[in-house]
Amino acid sequence: MNRNGIITALFIFAGIVLFGQTGTPKKPKLVVGIVVDQMRFDQLNKYESKFSEGGFKRLQREGFNFKNTTYNYIPTFTAPGHASIYTGSMPSYHGIIGNSWYDRKQKRVRGNVEDTTVTVVGSQVVNRYGASPKNLMTTTISDELRLGSNFRSKVISVSLKDRGAILPGGHTANGVYWVDVDTSPGYFVSSTYYMDDLPQWVKTFNQQEKANAFLNTTWNTLHPVADYIESDSDDNVYEPALGGKPSPSFPYDFKSMREKYKERGTEYQLLLVSPAGNTLLTEFATQAIANENLGMGADTDMISISYSVTDVVGHTFGPQSVELQDIYLRLDKEIERLLNYLDQKLGLGQYVLFLTSDHGVVPVAAYLQEHKLPSGVARVKRYTFAIESYLNTKYGNKPWIEYYDEDQIYLNRSVIAESKLDLNDIQQELADFLVGLDGIHSALTAHNLQNFDYTKGLNNMLQNGFNPQRSGDVLLSYDPGVVQNANPDLPISRVKGTTHGTGYGYDRHVPMLWFGAGIPHGVSVRNVATTDIAPSLAMFLDLQLPSGSMGQPLEEIFPPSRK
Ligand SMILES: [Zn+2]
Repeated sequence: MNRNGIITALFIFAGIVLFGQTGTPKKPKLVVGIVVDQMRFDQLNKYESKFSEGGFKRLQREGFNFKNTTYNYIPTFTAPGHASIYTGSMPSYHGIIGNSWYDRKQKRVRGNVEDTTVTVVGSQVVNRYGASPKNLMTTTISDELRLGSNFRSKVISVSLKDRGAILPGGHTANGVYWVDVDTSPGYFVSSTYYMDDLPQWVKTFNQQEKANAFLNTTWNTLHPVADYIESDSDDNVYEPALGGKPSPSFPYDFKSMREKYKERGTEYQLLLVSPAGNTLLTEFATQAIANENLGMGADTDMISISYSVTDVVGHTFGPQSVELQDIYLRLDKEIERLLNYLDQKLGLGQYVLFLTSDHGVVPVAAYLQEHKLPSGVARVKRYTFAIESYLNTKYGNKPWIEYYDEDQIYLNRSVIAESKLDLNDIQQELADFLVGLDGIHSALTAHNLQNFDYTKGLNNMLQNGFNPQRSGDVLLSYDPGVVQNANPDLPISRVKGTTHGTGYGYDRHVPMLWFGAGIPHGVSVRNVATTDIAPSLAMFLDLQLPSGSMGQPLEEIFPPSRK
């Protein structure tokens, strides 16, 4: 066969693989959704010179890279992020307005996946109250896959965090597993919402006590510390020293650290600040694919994998740290391992994969200040005091504020009603008062958010994050670079670690890569949103849009024959 003949034959072969015999596009055997918790867009390329060829670099080299992917709501936290990726919707519709929120009816803070009607399956603590997706108000793409196949498609979701596994799995997942890091010896668990007992393969995996073995190892950097020129020095003032260590630097001897943590009963939480946590999850995910026969049936299956260690290490040490860089270099190897496994198990082109993040993160406040960048600390306790003084002076001493945390203020509506005051007026007065305080950029009232359409910028993002049943009376945005701190007096130079949650670039700009199943190689700088992922998958798999889906399919990933 001459060269042209070979190329023609290859095209025909590729056509058969991708589109089957009939000429209609063949559906992928498996959808693989990867969320890297707290991954900023810049981390995809910042560490590139030390990445392997088969991980993040391969996804960019062979797949499609949407460089300008952003979140379109506030707050940019883990639970809303995972919910939005998989529902194609925003907190205003899917109802996951935070990692937790104040429940006016029950007068207490409620966790995003908390469910007291179910219990944890497989925990060493019997009848520990459990978790489920019941707070999620719309369907996910995983639900639509189940519905669309008359429940023949299988959906499995895994993470170290409960919310990282439960929300992507939707309401109808076959199996959802996370690690019980609060209980020794760090087993994968589930909820009675899904099952009465763990499958044998999960029990067998747990019995190997891999988490325990991992925590007897020492974490050293992959390369000499001096080679980490992409990060700040290893020992610096922006990071806390963990577990009684004299400095926040390598090596991390988990075997000795765990003894300290054991005294506090938090030994297995060390998995969340160890590269072992990501390794454990990759091993568990491949076991899930093998034992659940994912991608082996006639219908498309789905697995969601959410890597949590990047988030906890990012919070603890900040995005400038050698610790976080090393976590990414090692995660890159996990991604490579996962891709190689999928290639070997299902075959190249037989699965479609996306990789994104639930939010980014801001550099440590003191680091920003040191480098003359805009920064500050929002002290909720001080704001609370200022609000209370203002309202007490104006209307008399009463408990006007029912709850205030993060960026939401819940007014005491019964006190306002008893005082014969107008709720809308008080909301607006409070919003006007708040924008006059240092560090607060904007404040919108629930009344206005329900009655007006905000179409641009932070106001639009606050509106997309506002759910009338669950949100507060006043929603806040702090100034760019400002992070919250519970301590009212700690100077900025002593605030260690960092956080996220805002509508600013550092928190809302995340990676989005697509790979496999005929998706062309390419790059786009068009502004797209993480809410575009679920509707794209709906088009790709010929499924109905999830119930709250508001995103748009990403044209770029559809070759002409798929349109
Ligand atoms: Zn997160």
